[in-house]
Amino acid sequence: MTQSTSPDSRAPVNVVLIGPPGSGKGTQAVRLAERYRIPHISTGEILRGAVRAGTNLGRQVADTLAKGSLVGDDLMTDLVRARLVEPDTSAGFVLDGFPRTVAQASALDAMLGRAVMMVILIDVADAEIVCRMGTRRVCDACRLTQSVADAFHPDTEPCPYCGGNLKRRPDDEPDTVRHRLATYSEYATPVIEHYRPRATFAVVDGVQHADKVAVVVAAHIERLRL
Ligand code: AMP
Repeated sequence: MTQSTSPDSRAPVNVVLIGPPGSGKGTQAVRLAERYRIPHISTGEILRGAVRAGTNLGRQVADTLAKGSLVGDDLMTDLVRARLVEPDTSAGFVLDGFPRTVAQASALDAMLGRAVMMVILIDVADAEIVCRMGTRRVCDACRLTQSVADAFHPDTEPCPYCGGNLKRRPDDEPDTVRHRLATYSEYATPVIEHYRPRATFAVVDGVQHADKVAVVVAAHIERLRL
């Protein structure tokens, strides 16, 4: 995680993406993971996978996820610590959904020691988020997150990529979205302030097209890797 070098011998690309649910950070995380050949570590996806698989972890967190509340710091920190020692993180990683609290951010600082970590906030206003979440669907086969043409579209339609069913994530239901946004506002501000003084922190306007966001995010990373 910290000592190894990437294939081009530069420092590992350790990236933390912060942003409200629906800000497009998942999309950006996938692109960064492809570009730098590093794993995309989405704590939400790990937890949802555990719920689907019915593991002990899944049973432990299912209610919390359904409500859109936060899972405890100790559990989350242990989960990420275990993930970041996997060999596939030797060239870096993109963390999506962690840290959500200052306790998690401090724990991550301790895990990384002196390794450079780039923190990028993808900034999108609440009104835009509510609008985006209404049209967000996930394919139950290939797991790709996509946007349907309008929010009133039936909940199930074929995925244009693999033919699977596109379904609204249970925690994308409007009431849960409002709760998740409220939770985000409550917890994200102190986390952002934790990182803001650092030279490796950047804010990117997430209302632009995903391609433009990707260009700005990559430019920030490249500048820091020089
Ligand atoms: P996400 O896909 O990142 O929006 O996460 C979905 C849900 O997983 C959240 O609403 C939380 O219930 C839980 N979760 C994901 N990451 C964390 C975290 N770092 N700390 C606490 N709860 C989390």
